[in-house]
Amino acid sequence: MPPEGDGFARRAGALLRSAANDLKRDDEHAERDLGLERGTFRSYTDGQRPLDWELIRRAAEVWPLNERDLLPAHDDCPRGLAVMREKDSMAGARVLSRAGRPYYEYRDTAMSRIASYRPEWIRMLQVVGDDEADNPLVQWNRGHLLYQFTYFVGPVNYYCRWEGRSRCVPMETGDSVWGLPFAPHSFAARTDAEPAYILALTYGGGLTGDAQRELAVLGRSAAHALALPVTADPSVTARMIRSFMDAGALTATELAGRTGLPQRRTEALVGGAEPAGPDELALLAFGLGVSVRDLLPPRTGTDGGVAIQHARDARRWELPGEDGRPAYLVTRLAGDPLHPHTSALQLDVLGSDAARPSPLTTYQHQYVYVLGREGVRVRWEFAGEHFEEVLEAGASAYIRPQVPVTFTAPDGGRPRLLLLRIAGAVTPEVRHALGTMAAGGPDRYIAEDRLWYSKEGN
Ligand code: FE
Repeated sequence: MPPEGDGFARRAGALLRSAANDLKRDDEHAERDLGLERGTFRSYTDGQRPLDWELIRRAAEVWPLNERDLLPAHDDCPRGLAVMREKDSMAGARVLSRAGRPYYEYRDTAMSRIASYRPEWIRMLQVVGDDEADNPLVQWNRGHLLYQFTYFVGPVNYYCRWEGRSRCVPMETGDSVWGLPFAPHSFAARTDAEPAYILALTYGGGLTGDAQRELAVLGRSAAHALALPVTADPSVTARMIRSFMDAGALTATELAGRTGLPQRRTEALVGGAEPAGPDELALLAFGLGVSVRDLLPPRTGTDGGVAIQHARDARRWELPGEDGRPAYLVTRLAGDPLHPHTSALQLDVLGSDAARPSPLTTYQHQYVYVLGREGVRVRWEFAGEHFEEVLEAGASAYIRPQVPVTFTAPDGGRPRLLLLRIAGAVTPEVRHALGTMAAGGPDRYIAEDRLWYSKEGN
Protein backbone atom coordinates (compact mmCIF):
# COMPACT_ATOMS: atom_id res chain seq x y z
CA MET A 1 0.00 0.00 0.00
CA PRO A 2 1.25 3.50 -0.81
CA PRO A 3 1.80 6.04 2.00
CA GLU A 4 -1.45 7.35 3.46
CA GLY A 5 -0.53 11.00 3.72
CA ASP A 6 -2.55 11.58 0.57
CA GLY A 7 -5.98 12.29 2.03
CA PHE A 8 -7.00 8.63 1.83
CA ALA A 9 -8.66 8.64 5.26
CA ARG A 10 -10.52 11.85 4.49
CA ARG A 11 -11.78 10.47 1.16
CA ALA A 12 -12.81 7.22 2.87
CA GLY A 13 -14.77 9.20 5.45
CA ALA A 14 -16.50 11.20 2.73
CA LEU A 15 -17.55 7.98 0.99
CA LEU A 16 -18.98 6.66 4.26
CA ARG A 17 -20.96 9.88 4.79
CA SER A 18 -22.13 9.80 1.18
CA ALA A 19 -23.28 6.16 1.49
CA ALA A 20 -25.10 6.85 4.78
CA ASN A 21 -26.83 9.86 3.21
CA ASP A 22 -27.88 7.72 0.22
CA LEU A 23 -29.40 5.20 2.64
CA LYS A 24 -31.05 7.96 4.69
CA ARG A 25 -29.16 7.14 7.89
CA ASP A 26 -28.30 9.95 10.27
CA ASP A 27 -25.37 9.48 12.69
CA GLU A 28 -27.44 7.81 15.35
CA HIS A 29 -28.99 5.24 13.02
CA ALA A 30 -25.67 4.61 11.27
CA GLU A 31 -24.06 3.93 14.66
CA ARG A 32 -26.82 1.52 15.56
CA ASP A 33 -26.54 -0.32 12.22
CA LEU A 34 -22.76 -0.52 12.27
CA GLY A 35 -22.43 -1.37 15.95
CA LEU A 36 -20.46 1.78 16.70
CA GLU A 37 -20.23 3.57 19.99
CA ARG A 38 -22.65 6.45 20.37
CA GLY A 39 -21.27 9.72 18.98
CA THR A 40 -18.38 8.18 17.02
CA PHE A 41 -19.80 8.04 13.48
CA ARG A 42 -18.78 11.60 12.81
CA SER A 43 -15.13 10.92 13.66
CA TYR A 44 -15.10 8.33 10.87
CA THR A 45 -16.85 10.48 8.29
CA ASP A 46 -14.60 13.48 8.88
CA GLY A 47 -11.48 11.30 8.49
CA GLN A 48 -10.32 11.66 12.11
CA ARG A 49 -10.61 7.93 12.68
CA PRO A 50 -9.55 5.64 9.79
CA LEU A 51 -12.13 3.15 8.49
CA ASP A 52 -10.89 -0.28 9.48
CA TRP A 53 -11.66 -3.49 7.68
CA GLU A 54 -14.11 -4.61 10.33
CA LEU A 55 -16.24 -1.49 9.86
CA ILE A 56 -16.21 -1.89 6.08
CA ARG A 57 -17.13 -5.58 6.41
CA ARG A 58 -19.97 -4.76 8.78
CA ALA A 59 -21.28 -1.99 6.47
CA ALA A 60 -21.29 -4.38 3.50
CA GLU A 61 -23.12 -6.92 5.65
CA VAL A 62 -25.94 -4.78 6.98
CA TRP A 63 -26.25 -2.22 4.18
CA PRO A 64 -26.91 -3.02 0.49
CA LEU A 65 -23.51 -1.90 -0.70
CA ASN A 66 -20.15 -3.42 -1.58
CA GLU A 67 -16.90 -3.14 0.35
CA ARG A 68 -15.47 -1.43 -2.72
CA ASP A 69 -18.03 1.38 -2.39
CA LEU A 70 -16.30 2.53 0.80
CA LEU A 71 -12.76 2.25 -0.51
CA PRO A 72 -11.38 5.42 -2.09
CA ALA A 73 -8.59 5.66 -4.64
CA HIS A 74 -4.99 6.36 -3.70
CA ASP A 75 -3.37 9.55 -4.88
CA ASP A 76 0.11 8.53 -5.96
CA CYS A 77 0.66 11.62 -8.10
CA PRO A 78 0.51 14.50 -5.61
CA ARG A 79 2.69 16.80 -7.74
CA GLY A 80 0.49 16.47 -10.83
CA LEU A 81 3.17 14.61 -12.79
CA ALA A 82 5.02 11.44 -11.81
CA VAL A 83 8.22 10.31 -13.51
CA MET A 84 9.67 6.84 -13.99
CA ARG A 85 13.35 6.90 -14.96
CA GLU A 86 14.84 4.46 -17.44
CA LYS A 87 17.00 2.82 -14.73
CA ASP A 88 13.88 2.13 -12.67
CA SER A 89 12.18 0.61 -15.70
CA MET A 90 15.27 -1.54 -16.28
CA ALA A 91 15.43 -2.63 -12.65
CA GLY A 92 12.05 -4.33 -13.07
CA ALA A 93 12.93 -5.97 -16.40
CA ARG A 94 11.80 -9.57 -16.81
CA VAL A 95 12.11 -12.04 -19.67
CA LEU A 96 9.10 -14.24 -20.35
CA SER A 97 9.42 -17.40 -22.38
CA ARG A 98 6.97 -18.96 -24.77
CA ALA A 99 7.32 -22.60 -25.80
CA GLY A 100 10.41 -22.80 -23.63
CA ARG A 101 12.30 -20.02 -25.43
CA PRO A 102 12.81 -16.39 -24.33
CA TYR A 103 10.23 -14.41 -26.31
CA TYR A 104 9.83 -10.92 -24.81
CA GLU A 105 11.70 -8.71 -22.38
CA TYR A 106 9.19 -6.56 -20.48
CA ARG A 107 9.89 -3.33 -18.58
CA ASP A 108 7.22 -1.35 -16.72
CA THR A 109 7.01 2.33 -17.51
CA ALA A 110 5.11 5.12 -15.70
CA MET A 111 1.78 4.03 -14.20
CA SER A 112 -0.52 5.62 -11.67
CA ARG A 113 -3.33 4.35 -9.52
CA ILE A 114 -5.39 7.25 -10.83
CA ALA A 115 -5.48 6.03 -14.44
CA SER A 116 -6.03 2.66 -16.13
CA TYR A 117 -2.71 2.61 -18.05
CA ARG A 118 -0.54 -0.52 -17.99
CA PRO A 119 2.20 0.70 -20.32
CA GLU A 120 5.07 -1.67 -21.04
CA TRP A 121 8.32 -1.34 -22.94
CA ILE A 122 8.70 -4.73 -24.69
CA ARG A 123 11.71 -6.02 -26.62
CA MET A 124 11.24 -8.75 -29.21
CA LEU A 125 13.66 -11.63 -28.56
CA GLN A 126 12.43 -13.88 -31.34
CA VAL A 127 13.92 -13.17 -34.80
CA VAL A 128 12.05 -14.30 -37.90
CA GLY A 129 13.26 -14.48 -41.48
CA ASP A 130 9.95 -13.80 -43.23
CA ASP A 131 6.66 -11.88 -43.03
CA GLU A 132 4.42 -14.97 -42.96
CA ALA A 133 1.58 -14.99 -40.42
CA ASP A 134 1.92 -18.75 -39.96
CA ASN A 135 5.66 -18.74 -39.18
CA PRO A 136 5.91 -21.45 -36.47
CA LEU A 137 8.47 -19.38 -34.54
CA VAL A 138 5.75 -16.82 -33.81
CA GLN A 139 4.07 -17.44 -30.45
CA TRP A 140 0.59 -15.94 -30.28
CA ASN A 141 -1.13 -14.79 -27.12
CA ARG A 142 -4.80 -15.45 -26.31
CA GLY A 143 -5.70 -11.77 -26.53
CA HIS A 144 -6.38 -9.65 -23.46
CA LEU A 145 -8.97 -7.38 -21.95
CA LEU A 146 -7.13 -4.10 -22.21
CA TYR A 147 -7.22 -1.92 -25.28
CA GLN A 148 -3.75 -1.70 -26.77
CA PHE A 149 -2.05 1.19 -28.46
CA THR A 150 1.35 0.09 -29.79
CA TYR A 151 4.21 2.27 -31.02
CA PHE A 152 6.92 0.48 -32.99
CA VAL A 153 10.67 1.06 -32.88
CA GLY A 154 12.92 -0.80 -35.32
CA PRO A 155 12.19 -3.75 -37.60
CA VAL A 156 9.22 -5.33 -35.82
CA ASN A 157 6.67 -7.67 -37.36
CA TYR A 158 3.16 -7.25 -35.96
CA TYR A 159 0.86 -10.28 -36.06
CA CYS A 160 -2.87 -9.97 -35.46
CA ARG A 161 -5.78 -12.40 -35.67
CA TRP A 162 -9.49 -11.59 -36.06
CA GLU A 163 -12.31 -14.04 -36.67
CA GLY A 164 -9.82 -16.77 -37.46
CA ARG A 165 -7.88 -14.79 -40.06
CA SER A 166 -4.23 -14.15 -39.20
CA ARG A 167 -2.00 -11.59 -40.78
CA CYS A 168 1.50 -10.15 -40.46
CA VAL A 169 2.17 -6.43 -40.90
CA PRO A 170 5.86 -5.44 -41.14
CA MET A 171 6.36 -2.24 -39.11
CA GLU A 172 9.03 0.45 -39.03
CA THR A 173 9.95 3.07 -36.43
CA GLY A 174 7.08 5.49 -35.88
CA ASP A 175 4.32 3.16 -37.07
CA SER A 176 1.50 2.55 -34.63
CA VAL A 177 -1.61 0.44 -34.15
CA TRP A 178 -4.72 0.57 -31.96
CA GLY A 179 -6.46 -2.71 -31.20
CA LEU A 180 -9.71 -4.03 -29.72
CA PRO A 181 -9.84 -6.29 -26.64
CA PHE A 182 -9.26 -10.04 -26.73
CA ALA A 183 -7.86 -10.23 -30.27
CA PRO A 184 -4.80 -12.56 -30.30
CA HIS A 185 -1.57 -10.90 -31.42
CA SER A 186 2.18 -11.25 -31.40
CA PHE A 187 5.40 -9.45 -32.25
CA ALA A 188 8.79 -10.58 -33.58
CA ALA A 189 12.01 -8.91 -34.76
CA ARG A 190 13.07 -9.12 -38.40
CA THR A 191 16.73 -8.87 -37.40
CA ASP A 192 18.84 -8.81 -34.25
CA ALA A 193 21.29 -6.36 -35.84
CA GLU A 194 19.35 -3.34 -34.51
CA PRO A 195 16.99 -2.63 -31.62
CA ALA A 196 13.47 -3.95 -32.13
CA TYR A 197 10.98 -3.04 -29.43
CA ILE A 198 7.54 -1.62 -28.86
CA LEU A 199 5.76 0.63 -26.43
CA ALA A 200 2.69 -1.48 -25.67
CA LEU A 201 0.39 1.01 -24.00
CA THR A 202 -2.56 -0.97 -22.73
CA TYR A 203 -5.42 0.65 -20.85
CA GLY A 204 -8.86 -0.26 -19.60
CA GLY A 205 -10.79 2.86 -20.51
CA GLY A 206 -14.37 2.35 -19.33
CA LEU A 207 -14.05 -1.45 -19.40
CA THR A 208 -12.20 -1.98 -16.15
CA GLY A 209 -13.70 -0.88 -12.88
CA ASP A 210 -17.42 -0.76 -12.11
CA ALA A 211 -18.79 -1.95 -15.49
CA GLN A 212 -16.73 -5.16 -15.35
CA ARG A 213 -17.83 -5.88 -11.77
CA GLU A 214 -21.49 -5.21 -12.58
CA LEU A 215 -21.49 -7.48 -15.64
CA ALA A 216 -19.62 -10.21 -13.75
CA VAL A 217 -22.59 -10.36 -11.42
CA LEU A 218 -25.25 -10.00 -14.12
CA GLY A 219 -23.74 -12.93 -15.96
CA ARG A 220 -23.18 -14.24 -19.44
CA SER A 221 -26.63 -13.95 -20.97
CA ALA A 222 -27.04 -10.36 -19.76
CA ALA A 223 -23.58 -9.46 -21.09
CA HIS A 224 -24.45 -10.88 -24.50
CA ALA A 225 -27.88 -9.21 -24.54
CA LEU A 226 -26.40 -5.84 -23.60
CA ALA A 227 -23.68 -5.90 -26.29
CA LEU A 228 -24.42 -3.40 -29.06
CA PRO A 229 -22.74 -4.02 -32.40
CA VAL A 230 -21.08 -1.08 -34.15
CA THR A 231 -21.85 -1.02 -37.86
CA ALA A 232 -23.12 1.59 -40.28
CA ASP A 233 -26.31 -0.48 -40.53
CA PRO A 234 -29.70 1.16 -39.62
CA SER A 235 -30.36 -1.84 -37.38
CA VAL A 236 -27.93 -0.39 -34.82
CA THR A 237 -29.94 2.80 -34.35
CA ALA A 238 -33.09 0.65 -34.32
CA ARG A 239 -31.63 -1.32 -31.39
CA MET A 240 -31.05 1.90 -29.50
CA ILE A 241 -34.63 2.99 -30.24
CA ARG A 242 -36.02 -0.37 -29.10
CA SER A 243 -33.95 -0.19 -25.89
CA PHE A 244 -35.60 3.12 -25.02
CA MET A 245 -39.01 1.72 -26.02
CA ASP A 246 -38.45 -1.20 -23.63
CA ALA A 247 -37.36 1.25 -20.94
CA GLY A 248 -40.52 3.30 -21.32
CA ALA A 249 -42.83 0.35 -22.03
CA LEU A 250 -43.71 1.97 -25.36
CA THR A 251 -45.55 0.64 -28.37
CA ALA A 252 -44.89 1.72 -31.95
CA THR A 253 -48.41 3.17 -31.97
CA GLU A 254 -47.71 5.33 -28.92
CA LEU A 255 -44.35 6.41 -30.40
CA ALA A 256 -46.06 7.32 -33.67
CA GLY A 257 -48.62 9.33 -31.71
CA ARG A 258 -45.92 11.24 -29.87
CA THR A 259 -43.81 11.99 -32.94
CA GLY A 260 -46.50 12.50 -35.57
CA LEU A 261 -44.68 10.03 -37.83
CA PRO A 262 -46.96 7.67 -39.79
CA GLN A 263 -47.51 4.32 -38.08
CA ARG A 264 -46.05 2.29 -40.93
CA ARG A 265 -42.93 4.50 -41.14
CA THR A 266 -42.46 4.26 -37.37
CA GLU A 267 -42.62 0.47 -37.56
CA ALA A 268 -40.00 0.43 -40.35
CA LEU A 269 -37.64 2.63 -38.31
CA VAL A 270 -38.14 0.65 -35.11
CA GLY A 271 -37.56 -2.60 -37.02
CA GLY A 272 -34.33 -1.30 -38.55
CA ALA A 273 -35.55 -1.95 -42.08
CA GLU A 274 -34.79 1.61 -43.19
CA PRO A 275 -32.43 4.34 -41.95
CA ALA A 276 -33.92 7.34 -40.14
CA GLY A 277 -33.26 10.75 -41.65
CA PRO A 278 -32.00 13.63 -39.47
CA ASP A 279 -35.48 15.12 -39.00
CA GLU A 280 -36.93 11.74 -38.12
CA LEU A 281 -34.13 11.12 -35.60
CA ALA A 282 -34.95 14.44 -33.93
CA LEU A 283 -38.64 13.48 -33.78
CA LEU A 284 -37.87 10.01 -32.42
CA ALA A 285 -35.55 11.47 -29.77
CA PHE A 286 -38.31 13.91 -28.78
CA GLY A 287 -40.87 11.10 -28.65
CA LEU A 288 -38.59 8.90 -26.55
CA GLY A 289 -37.66 11.79 -24.26
CA VAL A 290 -33.93 11.51 -24.99
CA SER A 291 -31.28 13.47 -26.88
CA VAL A 292 -30.49 12.73 -30.53
CA ARG A 293 -26.97 11.68 -29.50
CA ASP A 294 -28.48 8.86 -27.45
CA LEU A 295 -29.77 7.28 -30.66
CA LEU A 296 -26.56 7.60 -32.66
CA PRO A 297 -24.13 4.68 -32.79
CA PRO A 298 -20.39 5.39 -32.72
CA ARG A 299 -18.25 4.92 -35.80
CA THR A 300 -15.23 2.67 -36.10
CA GLY A 301 -12.44 2.62 -38.63
CA THR A 302 -10.98 -0.66 -37.39
CA ASP A 303 -10.31 -3.38 -39.91
CA GLY A 304 -9.84 -6.87 -38.52
CA GLY A 305 -10.00 -5.49 -34.97
CA VAL A 306 -7.20 -2.98 -35.46
CA ALA A 307 -6.53 0.51 -36.78
CA ILE A 308 -3.03 0.79 -38.27
CA GLN A 309 -1.22 4.07 -38.87
CA HIS A 310 2.07 3.93 -40.76
CA ALA A 311 4.48 6.81 -40.13
CA ARG A 312 4.93 7.37 -43.86
CA ASP A 313 1.36 8.60 -44.37
CA ALA A 314 0.61 10.08 -40.94
CA ARG A 315 -0.75 13.65 -40.63
CA ARG A 316 1.82 16.14 -39.28
CA TRP A 317 1.38 19.76 -38.25
CA GLU A 318 3.20 22.45 -36.34
CA LEU A 319 1.98 23.88 -33.06
CA PRO A 320 3.14 27.48 -32.52
CA GLY A 321 4.38 28.78 -29.18
CA GLU A 322 3.54 32.08 -27.49
CA ASP A 323 6.15 33.84 -29.66
CA GLY A 324 4.50 32.53 -32.83
CA ARG A 325 7.43 30.23 -33.66
CA PRO A 326 6.82 26.49 -34.06
CA ALA A 327 7.13 24.85 -30.64
CA TYR A 328 6.20 21.30 -31.61
CA LEU A 329 5.82 19.16 -34.67
CA VAL A 330 2.84 16.93 -33.95
CA THR A 331 2.24 13.59 -35.68
CA ARG A 332 -1.09 11.88 -35.39
CA LEU A 333 -0.74 8.21 -34.43
CA ALA A 334 -3.18 5.31 -34.54
CA GLY A 335 -6.61 5.66 -32.96
CA ASP A 336 -10.25 5.01 -33.64
CA PRO A 337 -13.55 6.94 -33.46
CA LEU A 338 -14.81 4.18 -31.17
CA HIS A 339 -12.57 5.83 -28.55
CA PRO A 340 -13.07 9.53 -29.18
CA HIS A 341 -11.37 10.38 -25.90
CA THR A 342 -8.13 8.57 -26.70
CA SER A 343 -5.46 10.52 -28.58
CA ALA A 344 -2.05 9.16 -29.52
CA LEU A 345 0.51 11.71 -30.65
CA GLN A 346 4.19 11.89 -31.46
CA LEU A 347 5.65 15.21 -30.41
CA ASP A 348 8.92 16.56 -31.83
CA VAL A 349 10.10 19.30 -29.48
CA LEU A 350 11.40 22.19 -31.59
CA GLY A 351 12.01 24.89 -28.96
CA SER A 352 15.14 25.25 -26.83
CA ASP A 353 14.88 26.04 -23.11
CA ALA A 354 14.77 29.75 -24.01
CA ALA A 355 11.65 29.27 -26.16
CA ARG A 356 8.17 30.03 -24.87
CA PRO A 357 5.91 27.17 -25.92
CA SER A 358 2.22 27.51 -25.06
CA PRO A 359 1.21 25.13 -22.28
CA LEU A 360 -0.52 21.96 -23.43
CA THR A 361 -3.57 21.14 -21.33
CA THR A 362 -6.09 18.35 -21.79
CA TYR A 363 -9.04 16.86 -19.97
CA GLN A 364 -7.46 13.44 -20.45
CA HIS A 365 -5.00 11.41 -18.41
CA GLN A 366 -1.68 11.63 -20.13
CA TYR A 367 1.22 9.25 -20.60
CA VAL A 368 4.59 10.42 -21.89
CA TYR A 369 7.56 8.37 -23.08
CA VAL A 370 10.87 9.85 -24.23
CA LEU A 371 11.74 8.27 -27.58
CA GLY A 372 15.24 8.48 -29.08
CA ARG A 373 18.31 9.38 -27.02
CA GLU A 374 17.65 13.07 -26.38
CA GLY A 375 16.18 14.23 -23.08
CA VAL A 376 13.47 16.83 -22.70
CA ARG A 377 12.72 19.49 -20.12
CA VAL A 378 9.17 19.37 -18.84
CA ARG A 379 7.65 22.28 -16.93
CA TRP A 380 4.23 22.10 -15.36
CA GLU A 381 1.89 23.82 -12.97
CA PHE A 382 -0.12 22.06 -10.31
CA ALA A 383 -2.10 23.37 -7.33
CA GLY A 384 -0.61 26.83 -7.80
CA GLU A 385 2.98 25.59 -7.83
CA HIS A 386 5.47 25.47 -10.69
CA PHE A 387 7.65 22.43 -11.26
CA GLU A 388 10.28 21.31 -13.72
CA GLU A 389 12.24 18.15 -14.44
CA VAL A 390 14.49 16.83 -17.18
CA LEU A 391 13.24 13.55 -18.58
CA GLU A 392 16.19 11.63 -20.00
CA ALA A 393 16.00 9.08 -22.79
CA GLY A 394 13.85 6.11 -21.83
CA ALA A 395 12.04 8.00 -19.07
CA SER A 396 8.27 8.02 -18.91
CA ALA A 397 5.71 10.03 -17.01
CA TYR A 398 2.08 10.13 -15.99
CA ILE A 399 0.31 13.50 -15.96
CA ARG A 400 -3.04 14.16 -14.29
CA PRO A 401 -5.87 15.72 -16.32
CA GLN A 402 -5.96 19.53 -16.61
CA VAL A 403 -2.27 19.96 -15.74
CA PRO A 404 -0.64 22.48 -18.13
CA VAL A 405 2.75 21.22 -19.40
CA THR A 406 5.43 22.53 -21.75
CA PHE A 407 8.31 20.61 -23.28
CA THR A 408 11.61 22.17 -24.41
CA ALA A 409 14.98 20.82 -25.56
CA PRO A 410 17.61 21.36 -22.84
CA ASP A 411 20.48 20.52 -25.17
CA GLY A 412 19.14 22.45 -28.13
CA GLY A 413 18.41 19.22 -30.01
CA ARG A 414 15.08 17.88 -31.12
CA PRO A 415 13.75 15.42 -28.57
CA ARG A 416 10.87 13.19 -29.53
CA LEU A 417 8.03 12.18 -27.25
CA LEU A 418 5.22 9.70 -27.42
CA LEU A 419 1.97 10.91 -25.84
CA LEU A 420 -1.00 8.69 -25.13
CA ARG A 421 -3.99 10.54 -23.72
CA ILE A 422 -6.99 8.58 -22.45
CA ALA A 423 -10.26 9.22 -20.68
CA GLY A 424 -10.81 7.84 -17.23
CA ALA A 425 -14.14 7.20 -15.53
CA VAL A 426 -15.12 10.85 -15.91
CA THR A 427 -17.09 10.32 -19.11
CA PRO A 428 -19.06 13.05 -20.89
CA GLU A 429 -22.14 11.79 -18.99
CA VAL A 430 -20.37 12.49 -15.70
CA ARG A 431 -19.06 15.85 -16.96
CA HIS A 432 -22.60 16.87 -17.96
CA ALA A 433 -23.85 15.72 -14.56
CA LEU A 434 -21.21 17.87 -12.82
CA GLY A 435 -22.22 20.79 -15.01
CA THR A 436 -25.89 20.50 -14.12
CA MET A 437 -25.65 19.96 -10.34
CA ALA A 438 -27.09 22.53 -7.99
CA ALA A 439 -24.64 25.11 -6.67
CA GLY A 440 -21.96 23.54 -4.49
CA GLY A 441 -22.83 20.07 -5.81
CA PRO A 442 -19.49 19.18 -7.42
CA ASP A 443 -17.60 19.98 -4.19
CA ARG A 444 -19.87 17.74 -2.14
CA TYR A 445 -19.81 15.04 -4.83
CA ILE A 446 -16.05 14.59 -4.47
CA ALA A 447 -15.94 15.08 -0.69
CA GLU A 448 -19.30 14.83 1.07
CA ASP A 449 -18.80 16.48 4.43
CA ARG A 450 -22.28 16.79 5.90
CA LEU A 451 -25.58 15.14 6.69
CA TRP A 452 -28.07 15.77 3.87
CA TYR A 453 -30.27 17.87 6.13
CA SER A 454 -29.83 20.04 9.19
CA LYS A 455 -30.84 18.54 12.56
CA GLU A 456 -31.72 22.02 13.76
CA GLY A 457 -34.07 22.49 10.82
CA ASN A 458 -33.66 24.70 7.77
FE1 FE B 1 -0.86 -7.13 -26.00
